[in-house]
Amino acid sequence: MHAEPRASRFVQRLGEGEPRRIRVSFEFFPPKTEEMEKTLWESITRLAPLKPNFVSVTYGAGGSTRERTHSTVKRILAETALTPAAHLTCVAATCEEIDAVIESYCTAGVRHIVALRGDPVGGIGERYAPHPGGYRNAADLVAGIKRLSDVEVSVSAYPEKHPDSPTVEADLDMLAAKVDAGAARAITQFFFENDLYFRYLDRVRARGIDVPVVPGILPVQNFKQTKAFAARCGASVRDMGIDLVYAVCHLLGLRPSHEASREASDGRGALPLPAGERAGVRGVG
Ligand SMILES: Cc1cc2nc3c(=O)[nH]c(=O)nc-3n(C[C@H](O)[C@H](O)[C@H](O)COP(=O)(O)OP(=O)(O)OC[C@H]3O[C@@H](n4cnc5c(N)ncnc54)[C@H](O)[C@@H]3O)c2cc1C
Repeated sequence: MHAEPRASRFVQRLGEGEPRRIRVSFEFFPPKTEEMEKTLWESITRLAPLKPNFVSVTYGAGGSTRERTHSTVKRILAETALTPAAHLTCVAATCEEIDAVIESYCTAGVRHIVALRGDPVGGIGERYAPHPGGYRNAADLVAGIKRLSDVEVSVSAYPEKHPDSPTVEADLDMLAAKVDAGAARAITQFFFENDLYFRYLDRVRARGIDVPVVPGILPVQNFKQTKAFAARCGASVRDMGIDLVYAVCHLLGLRPSHEASREASDGRGALPLPAGERAGVRGVG
């Protein structure tokens, strides 16, 4: 099926007095095999009626999925009514190479990029060294994207601090630099304790950063894999088993009495809470 490239910028705004609606976005991995592609499209078809704010497609380490990310995003634009966002990292590429990717997205009609530094080529644990002719970090990449086009840019945020970051303050400085460079929204690394997110949000606001900070939620499909992801990005998983059981009960409508009364008084018991964007469900496809 063919369709004209169309803009993917999210334009919907809730009007005054309109009821609050929970808005979500979904993050998909670009498929590696035909079977994974089938699963991805089944997932997209099943989730589309939830009318996500946008759906994003990740970019493999070192640009390894460049073509697959691009073709998945293009197919979403061509065959669905969804608003796609393309992830992009700075790893192992010159500014010119990255700029060519940005321009190809713009030509295809993509109007939203999730801009990331990415992980070291040798994997986590190795010290990150920017490509000599490349963007130095995510803030530099955001500025590069904004120089080329006025696409919407989202960036990462770390409720538990990025493992490379020497301090929480340095982490917030980087987020502030990304927002100053033009990022419109931050999407967090996944976490398993809501308080981590709320405490982080307080620190972000106290630092004067006012863009929406979307809580990234990882639906656990594979416990071992989730533990490995968490070890790499510094997220804590101590009580994950309990949290999963708790979440299932929550979905079934079961509430402990103290939470029910607290939710009624301040709404803090359940995600998503703060104004602006709501929840980003990560790693769906
Ligand atoms: C929502 C989300 C989506 C993601 N999607 C992808 C994806 O599609 N593909 C992919 O490969 N990865 C993805 N990642 C992972 C991300 O690439 C890694 O976490 C990477 O290590 C950091 O990239 P960043 O853009 O968050 O970095 P930055 O925002 O540039 O930095 C993160 C933190 O590390 C610190 N830091 C950065 N560089 C240094 C340095 N040289 N020395 C000291 N401290 C430093 C900064 O203080 C900063 O707080 C995603 C992460 C998130 C949260």
